[in-house]
Amino acid sequence: MNDFGRARADLVDDLVRDGHLRSAPVRAAFLAVPRERFVTEDLHRKAYVDTPLPIPMGQTISAPSMIAIMLEEAELAEGQKVLDVGTGSGYNAALLAAIVGGANVVSIERHAGLVDFARQNLAAAEIAGVRLVVGDGTLGYEPLAPYDRIVVTAGAPRIAKSWVRQTRMGGLIVAPVGRSTFSQVLVVARRTGEDRVEARESTPCAFVPLVGREGW
Ligand code: SAM
Repeated sequence: MNDFGRARADLVDDLVRDGHLRSAPVRAAFLAVPRERFVTEDLHRKAYVDTPLPIPMGQTISAPSMIAIMLEEAELAEGQKVLDVGTGSGYNAALLAAIVGGANVVSIERHAGLVDFARQNLAAAEIAGVRLVVGDGTLGYEPLAPYDRIVVTAGAPRIAKSWVRQTRMGGLIVAPVGRSTFSQVLVVARRTGEDRVEARESTPCAFVPLVGREGW
């Protein structure tokens, strides 16, 4: 095991100890995906610190503990089809791919430059099959709907109508929702009807804003 591998295993141990990683598939994904491949070289030495890090276009790769909480809340299983809103570095898409299978992941990002960044990172991490789309994820991604899960990693003003309509009945949407652009609470919403969800609040969080037609 190289230094990155050891640092990754130590971080996973910490996330398990702190109760953020709870299930075998999410734990295995964190052990399998090399986070150092999803940050620029100058940040490699910080790749296994539990903190958000800057990525191009003024955006961030989220803190591992936050992503662990979200992926556990999403109750993921192999074979589920997942829409990842806010590709950023591609790290969350890579973790999703490790859990549900790369061909089942669609990831949408508004900055074309970040889609290029994520494409390179996923290739460097040898993760295949993820569908990357440039677009406004507040509108979901209709061409490949419905999804079993929609996981959003930017702060939204509300659960967007498009997400509800593009989630399979009984499926889950996990998104940071808040009245301001700098603080949110993680909302876990299960689709129960045509335009209906049953939602509950999980943990407080702070993501960069979701900018778009049904966002900020
Ligand atoms: N999941 C990412 C990762 O693993 O690196 C981190 C996501 S970062 C916290 C939030 C991302 O959401 C940014 O890359 C931002 O450009 C993107 N974003 C913001 N509004 C968006 C929108 N309407 N549609 C798609 N992406 C959006």
